[in-house]
Formats: sequence, C-alpha cells, structure tokens
Amino acid sequence: MKPDFDLAIIGSGFGGSLLAMVAHRIGLKVVLLERGRHPRFAIGESSSPLANLIIEQLAERYGLPRLNALTSYGEWERNYPEVVCGLKRGFTFFKHQINQTYRPAPDRSNQLLVAASPHDDVADTHWLRSDVDHFLVNEAIALGVEYLDQIELQGVEWGADSTARLNAQRLGQMIQLRARWVVDASGPRGFLSRRLDIAEHRFNSYPPTQALFSHFTGVHRCDAMPAYTTAEQAPYPMDDAALHHVFDGGWMWVLRFNNGVTSAGVAVTDELAKKLRLSEGERAWQRVLSRFPSIYDQFAQAKAIREFTWMPQLAYRATTATGGGWAMLPSSAAFIDPLFSTGFPLTLLGIERLGRALEEDRLNQAQVMKEYNEVTLAEADHTAQFIAGCYSGFPQFQDFAAYSMFYFVAASFSEMARRLGRGHMVRQFLASDHPTFGQAARILGRMLRTRGAQSELFAAEVRKQTDCLNVAGLCNPAKRNWYGVDFEDLVAEATKLAMTPAEVREVLQRADWARGNRLAAAMAE
Ligand SMILES: Cc1cc2nc3c(=O)[nH]c(=O)nc-3n(C[C@H](O)[C@H](O)[C@H](O)COP(=O)(O)OP(=O)(O)OC[C@H]3O[C@@H](n4cnc5c(N)ncnc54)[C@H](O)[C@@H]3O)c2cc1C
Repeated sequence: MKPDFDLAIIGSGFGGSLLAMVAHRIGLKVVLLERGRHPRFAIGESSSPLANLIIEQLAERYGLPRLNALTSYGEWERNYPEVVCGLKRGFTFFKHQINQTYRPAPDRSNQLLVAASPHDDVADTHWLRSDVDHFLVNEAIALGVEYLDQIELQGVEWGADSTARLNAQRLGQMIQLRARWVVDASGPRGFLSRRLDIAEHRFNSYPPTQALFSHFTGVHRCDAMPAYTTAEQAPYPMDDAALHHVFDGGWMWVLRFNNGVTSAGVAVTDELAKKLRLSEGERAWQRVLSRFPSIYDQFAQAKAIREFTWMPQLAYRATTATGGGWAMLPSSAAFIDPLFSTGFPLTLLGIERLGRALEEDRLNQAQVMKEYNEVTLAEADHTAQFIAGCYSGFPQFQDFAAYSMFYFVAASFSEMARRLGRGHMVRQFLASDHPTFGQAARILGRMLRTRGAQSELFAAEVRKQTDCLNVAGLCNPAKRNWYGVDFEDLVAEATKLAMTPAEVREVLQRADWARGNRLAAAMAE
C-alpha cells in the first residue's frame, strides 16, 4: 500500500516546522504532528550568527524567502513587527561573588563582552518562541504542509515494506498515518526515545545540572545601573545581548524582548541546586537573587509573569539518533546547556544535513543514516565537553574567559567560511572536526576540569591553539575582554580562509552579498 506521506515529523517547534518547509520544497508530501496547540510557551530563545546564517542559507537553497527577515533584527522589525523578538548584539558576561556588589575590575578581568554584529540592523535576535514557533508553523501550513495538532501519538511500527505506521488519537478519533520516513522533532526524551525505549547515555565528565526560569517584566538594564558601568564606551549596549551573570557553580541568563518582557533563568550544578533548593521554584529564585546583591538590584522591581519552570535534569543524550526509517533532530537526540546558545545551531545543522539526504532520496540508506547519527552525537559530545570546561572555569573567571574563545573563534570562523564560500573548511559545530583545534578544545577543557588552570599560562595556550582559525581578532590581551567587530581583522587573516586580503575585501564589498547583507552593510559604514 502506498504510504500517505513521504515524511512524518513529530513536533512543531521551530525545528520541526523548518524541516517540514524544507522537505515540502524538495517536493515531498509532509505531515507535521503536534501534541499541543500554537501559540504555546517554549524555552530556548537566543539565536546566534551561525544559526541565522544557516537559516539564511536554507531560505536560499529551498526558496523560502519569507524566512530571511527572521535572520537579522532590522529586517525582522520591519517585516514582522507582530512577531516579538529582542535585540542581540553579542554575548555579555559578569562574574559575581557571593554577598558582594559587582564592580568592574580595572583590567575588566571579571567581565567579558564579545560583539557578534557591528550594529543593530544586522544584529541577531532573541525569539519569543510562542510567537516565532506559531509564525513558522503557519508558514509551513501556507506552503502546503499537512498539520495536525492536538494529536496524541500512541505507537509506531514499521511494516515489512519499511513504511512507518503511526497510530494516534485526535479529538476523540483514532487515526493511522503511514509514512516512508519519520523524523522526531519532539525534543529531548521525546516520542521516539520513549516509544522505542532508547537508552540515555550520560555525557562523560559533565556535571549534572538543573535549571529554573520564567519570564519577567520590570527587569532593570545593567547599563543603567552604576554597579556595572564604567567611563569607557562598551563595544555595544551591554544589555542588548545574551547577558550572563556567572558565579561559582552556575550562571543566569537575561534576555530582553522588545515588548517589555525579559526571559531569565539559572542553570546550576546539582550541588548548588541542592543548596538553593531549586525545586521550590520562586522561593529558590529569591534565594539566588539574595546571594548576589547586584543581580538582586537588577530584579528589584521585576515580576514573574508566568510560573517558574524547574528542570531537574538539563542534559540529555540518546544512545542513538537514527534507526531504520527514522531519525531524530539533534535537539531530540541531545541537549547540554543553554550556555552559548548551542541548541539552535546544532538543530539547524541537523536540518541542513537531513535536507541534503532528502534531496537525494537517501534517508533510507544505511550509510547516510550512520553518518548522520555519528556526526549528531559527536557534536553533542564535543559541546558537552566544552560546556563542562566552562563550568570548571567559572570560579577563576579569567580561565573561563580564555576557554570561551574556543566557542567565539570557531563560531566566527564558521560564519566567515560559510559566507565566503569556504564551508568545506569547517563542517562540524565548534570546529570539533578540525584536527588540531577540536582536539585542543578537548584537552584544555579536560585540564580545566581536572587540574584547574593558571590564568596567564592557560590564556596563552588557548591563544596558541586557537590561532589557526582566529579571524576575528580574538584572544587579544590588549582588548581586555571587550571585543567589538572589526572587519580589518578578517582581511588581515584572509590566508586562514585560503584567500588573499584583496579577495576578502572584494567579497565583503560586493553589492550582491548574500541576502541579509550583514557584512556589506557594515563595511559601507
Ligand atoms: C533552559 C533552556 C534554555 C535554552 N536556551 C537556548 C538558547 O538560548 N539558545 C539556543 O540556541 N538553544 C537554547 N536551548 C535549546 C533549545 O530549546 C532547543 O534547541 C530548541 O527548542 C529545539 O527546538 P525544536 O523545535 O527542535 O524542539 P522543541 O522546541 O523542544 O519543540 C518540540 C515540539 O514537539 C512537541 N511534542 C513533544 N512531544 C510530542 C509528541 N509526543 N507528539 C507530538 N508533538 C510533540 C512539543 O509540544 C513542541 O511543540 C535551551 C534549552 C533549555 C532547556
């Protein structure tokens, strides 16, 4: 019997809806299955340059022009003002000590500001997921994707013809859907993990962590608070960013949307969570605030506008991400920690890879699925090792600041390589597949976890080991932890991208630069 659909996607978060659009544009018959109803709350809100670039490239490759405006703040605001987002110019970190008011150290050794874009118009964004996911599912429906919400999937089995049969209940009716392939986009510990009893494989050497979060109104800006500011002009307004308050054992995110709402939450080790009694929700949140006077002041007038969510176990990794006739999105196969907004780019890399396999009708080839499985889990493992190193660096903030450069160097190199047609130079997230860079990130991370580090020597070693991909002027002690965007750094390091400085300059200035025009706009200033 002919299947009803080529592809059934379980879960209509941004990942499921984007993959549905891609598959539809490839010419496949797609059904998107959602347990709940949009609009609905979802966590995971901060995008990044690499995430936006992948969306831009998916939009280009699959003829989805309406996605382009979601890839930069200015275009988003002009095109979809009703879809709430926030301005993200970079990554801001402040290191706090218990019971001490924050004061910027003269050498800025207790803060780190890394710009990701040169100005607001081309900046990244925070996504109010209830709006963005709703928008994307409507886009998928408008294209012609079949969408069934409020569906309760009860089972899945594969027939001798390898067609999947999904049994479900919807609004009191039993239904059966047959599909050639199934992609699970239902999140960590999602539908297939549970139905197929896929075991969890804990990340090695990763500290178990928990989270507590909500949405707030009335959160003060740090750049309006004397505790955080200095006479010097920061590379960008420090709150128009993914703002992090770092402390021993964990960190807090503060992400501002432009409707007056701010997303904030903490991710902490189990050890600290126990001390804070994180399971107590709002009372635990107050305990966090009362430990750190300058964070307390930032939230002095804040009101939580939704219930607090406690997640007793943040990290998750399935033992496998594929099987006969099915695959998980990376976001269903694994999650590590919100630090460095790795969830979106990992998910998008998975969508890109699945899109290529679907284009060539190769999703049922064992070798293709094996490679997808390996790369998905290898990227998750590498990211987990990196984040574990970051947690170990928190007590000595300069070690964290130094080690974080493995993220910033890899992210900026990956973005530039893709933009300049050199995508083959770095295929995996965080350049984990680069022979020296990826290995060095793992070794230095292990050093932080097991022995701690000596700040200056450690920073010098990071500088040396990241130099091969450093095209953004990072790891420069003279910048004292404040990094703006200067395209001359890229021109000067052109050979690392196998180009000449003149070639880089020419590409950057070309008027028909990729849609979004981020760099050309910046160069023209
Ligand atoms: C605390 C926290 C903070 C985070 N912050 C960031 C961040 O700032 N930046 C970042 O890049 N990443 C972040 N992430 C990761 C990010 O949330 C994920 O990468 C992202 O949500 C993945 O999107 P998705 O669409 O694949 O899945 P999800 O957003 O998880 O959506 C899954 C969908 O599947 C549906 N579903 C679930 N079960 C079923 C079922 N049985 N049948 C049908 N439908 C089902 C759900 O209702 C939902 O709509 C964070 C994660 C956490 C936990």
